Amino acid sequence: MKELPKRLLVTLIIFLMLVSLFSLTLSSSQQPGTIDILSLVDKINQAEVTSITIIDNRLVVVLKDGSTLEATKETNESLGTLLKNYNVDPEKLKALKVTVEQDTSLRFWVLTLLPFLIPFLIVAVFIYFMMRQVQGANSRALMFGQSKAREVTPQDQRNRITFKDVAGAKEAKEELEEIIEFLKSPKKFLSLGARIPKGVLLVGAPGTGKTLLARAVAGEANVPFFSISGSEFVEMFVGVGASRVRDLFRKAKRNSPCIVFMDELDAVGRQRGAGLGGSNDEREQTLNQILVEMDGFDVSTNIIVMAATNRPDILDRALLRPGRFDRRVVLDAPDINDREAILQVHARHKPLAADVNLRRVAERTPGFTGADLNNLLNEAAILAARQNKTKVEMTHILNSIEKVILGPERKSHILSDKEKKVTAYHEAGHALVARSLPNTDPVHKVSIVSRGSAAGYTLKMPIEDKSMHTRAEFIDELAVLLAGHTTEREIFGDLSTGASNDLKEATRLARRLIMQYGMSDTLGARTFGEREELIFLGREIHEQRDYSEKVAELIDKEISKFIEGAIKTAREIITKRRDKLDQVAAILLEKETIERDEFEALFTPAPAKAAA
Ligand code: ADP
Ligand code: MG
Ligand code: ZN
Repeated sequence: MKELPKRLLVTLIIFLMLVSLFSLTLSSSQQPGTIDILSLVDKINQAEVTSITIIDNRLVVVLKDGSTLEATKETNESLGTLLKNYNVDPEKLKALKVTVEQDTSLRFWVLTLLPFLIPFLIVAVFIYFMMRQVQGANSRALMFGQSKAREVTPQDQRNRITFKDVAGAKEAKEELEEIIEFLKSPKKFLSLGARIPKGVLLVGAPGTGKTLLARAVAGEANVPFFSISGSEFVEMFVGVGASRVRDLFRKAKRNSPCIVFMDELDAVGRQRGAGLGGSNDEREQTLNQILVEMDGFDVSTNIIVMAATNRPDILDRALLRPGRFDRRVVLDAPDINDREAILQVHARHKPLAADVNLRRVAERTPGFTGADLNNLLNEAAILAARQNKTKVEMTHILNSIEKVILGPERKSHILSDKEKKVTAYHEAGHALVARSLPNTDPVHKVSIVSRGSAAGYTLKMPIEDKSMHTRAEFIDELAVLLAGHTTEREIFGDLSTGASNDLKEATRLARRLIMQYGMSDTLGARTFGEREELIFLGREIHEQRDYSEKVAELIDKEISKFIEGAIKTAREIITKRRDKLDQVAAILLEKETIERDEFEALFTPAPAKAAA
């Protein structure tokens, strides 16, 4: 805001100049009385005039009574000829004192120069402002190199996060306790000659609370917290990232003890020398700078570098060696107890109805991360607000679970009767096969209300958290995936496009079984293909073949075999339990949705029926 007064000043000066110019021209031409040539001739003839001074085309006339008048003549006509033309008495003329003067007054200069000066002035002012603009841009370009690190100071109580805000993650917290101790009282450790880790790498799937935990460490230790995300290092210009790193560490050193947190480290910390494209240079420079900075400060600097990534496998090995990120803290997807605790944390500021049972919510959300659970409760609160409720009820939360998993319901998506029937049988097929096979997760809900891109869905939920899967589970899962397709073929003798996603999933699963897990009997216990990741897309798009053409053919055959086997299993179940299939489909057509209890009741011989 220093610009404003300056700009005002410039405008003011220009304004003053204009005003003074105006007054100059106006006042001087009006001060003495003006007369025309004819009256001047008259006055000369009557001998009233004593002298005439010629200044350019102005005639300043002094009368006998002492007053002055002004007249104007044509510029290139002399006074003599003029007066002669008007037949002035030559005698009278002789008595007249005529002087010619150069107009040297300010007015003359201003009047002659101004027409030339004004354009220059305008251009000059214009250029001046242009320069300023460019300078501004320049200094902004220089700002580029400064880190955009966000700082959370210990004084900032509102943004302070402590371990209380992080539910579960017991092991991770224990690991980090040591770091906090050190930041609080470094002397204790240093006097014993202990080497405190410089870098801690938080590893975990997205949404498992890595960023949250890092901030909580800063909050617990009560030290400043500088955070920057890996992607912020990577800019258009080579060298910018490196200078940002330098700046970040400079800031940190001024504020030690403190924590430097680099989020999404994989964005810069990938294995060097892999992949293609120009941005590599920039990334490598940035990474090198990080390595240099981490080596550059010794333990007594009291800076702890934390970083988070969900891909530790692709990080450059130089980052992981001792003296850099030598501590690893792994954050797993929360188990049922942790989920309940996380739900409790996020329910703190939400009024819950008496019927809400967070334990049951935790049971129904296996695989959810902390971020998912946060999102779930938020969705539930929005739903409750939209229904004008004052409290969040259990139904709101349960409905939101599906929304979080599958996307919002598309009630407006209206199926024709035929489509409805096909979808109902398709989903009933999935559900029936899932219910009939031993190694599958229980069916939680079957529905033909479309959600996201799916026309209908069968929601299965594991009873407990699983971190491992067996071959038998995969084989059964394949049959479940293909059950929709098989049912359509069995019942209608025709196929719809609704099964295409199932087929894709099934093919992928079969391929993984063979190529990654070595679960095929014919091809044996080995993996096929080395997957390499390309930088920009961040997805597997490139697979290095480490097997022959012949094996590739075998793999294809094996995939087909798995799929055919699964279809056979599904078909057997569908034909054998056709009555159940029809029942489920009929209920779906009538009510659109079947919940778990109702679904289970179809399969347990109800004692009530016998009584009826
Ligand atoms: P990450 O950095 O691992 O992707 P975040 O730390 O950004 O995940 O977590 C996202 C959000 O999820 C957090 O803001 C928080 O609301 C919620 N969350 C994740 N884990 C937990 C946890 N253990 N306790 C409480 N909330 C959590
Ligand atoms: Mg994060
Ligand atoms: Zn399907």
